[in-house]
Amino acid sequence: MATDCLFCKIISGEIPSTEVYSDEDVYAFRDINPAAPTHILVIPKKHLVDVKSATLDDEALLGKLLLRANAIAEAEGLNANGFRYVINTGSDGGQTVFHLHLHILGGRALSWPPG
Ligand code: AMP
Ligand code: ZN
Repeated sequence: MATDCLFCKIISGEIPSTEVYSDEDVYAFRDINPAAPTHILVIPKKHLVDVKSATLDDEALLGKLLLRANAIAEAEGLNANGFRYVINTGSDGGQTVFHLHLHILGGRALSWPPG
């Protein structure tokens, strides 16, 4: 846990969140400012800043993050019409919270390319 990290505080329960899924390695919760009808953040419980900070030690964890996201998207009913996974990385990538998080966005048609 990183002491000054918002998402580490969410994992520990110090900051409240609306839980969607939790296991020993992965936590998922509803985005506080949803950009789509369904907007869920899937995060590793281990504090990783972003994907490029991961090492070979994190190989299984990154795989698990994606597979849990698949199960969440299916449970949320997003598979029929499609949805989007987003990992903003760094300031130009739009990252504002520096604890790796996978956005699941769905429930409406999403435009492309991003702004
Ligand atoms: P990013 O811009 O990719 O770093 O995404 C950070 C996301 O975290 C944004 O979509 C925010 O709305 C969301 N967020 C920030 N604070 C909270 C919070 N306390 N609970 C849930 N989501 C949050
Ligand atoms: Zn953290």
